Amino acid sequence: MRLIFIGPPGAGKGTQSEKICKRYGIKQISTGDILRKNRKEGTELGNKAKEYMDAGSLVPDQLIIDMMKLEFTNPDYENGYILDGFPRTVTQAEALDNMLKEINIQLDVVLVLEVPREELISRLTARRTCRGCPRTYHLIYSPPKVQNICDNCGSELYQRIDDSDETVISRLKIYDDQTRPLIEFYENKDKAISVNGMGDITDITDLLFDLLDSYK
Ligand code: AMP
Repeated sequence: MRLIFIGPPGAGKGTQSEKICKRYGIKQISTGDILRKNRKEGTELGNKAKEYMDAGSLVPDQLIIDMMKLEFTNPDYENGYILDGFPRTVTQAEALDNMLKEINIQLDVVLVLEVPREELISRLTARRTCRGCPRTYHLIYSPPKVQNICDNCGSELYQRIDDSDETVISRLKIYDDQTRPLIEFYENKDKAISVNGMGDITDITDLLFDLLDSYK
């Protein structure tokens, strides 16, 4: 199973991807997580990406495309994957099309998670991220059991610089300008399916499972 998750920052792509991966035995490929890992390790890519990420802007297409070409060589992805945060521009989507054509592979479906803007702002500014694993929390709706400590791995939680109020507004604008056009791109290929991302996390997961069961 090969899927793409499109949705604005804060729509819940990461949370739902984790559940989808467990159920279908596929891997999540989050470009944001890969970039954060590179930054932590101080790689050349991490250093180049830093200023764009902290400002909430997109890392240049060519850096991302080269990074993904390399990532796709990982044999872990043979059973399938869910792309979370890639592609984010039409240029990236075209590059992905070419990569898949070269290896004769088709995407199954592109899930579009829709959430109203006010809700996204509330979710992102109250989001806390674990330093040790990809888990995230919402200070009000899904706080950790112990303040500032991850339930999963015990590491400290922090607020991503790009989850601060001003940066969130600019990230949402970038989504509207650069990523939203991908919905039409994939509708034209008959691949896009919209899912309402508002409501209880488990209800949304059930809806996604019902939908994806038909692609198994
Ligand atoms: P995310 O964790 O998906 O919100 O990504 C965090 C940041 O990483 C984004 O705000 C961008 O700066 C950068 N980033 C992640 N994925 C991409 C991508 N596909 N294209 C460009 N920049 C990206």
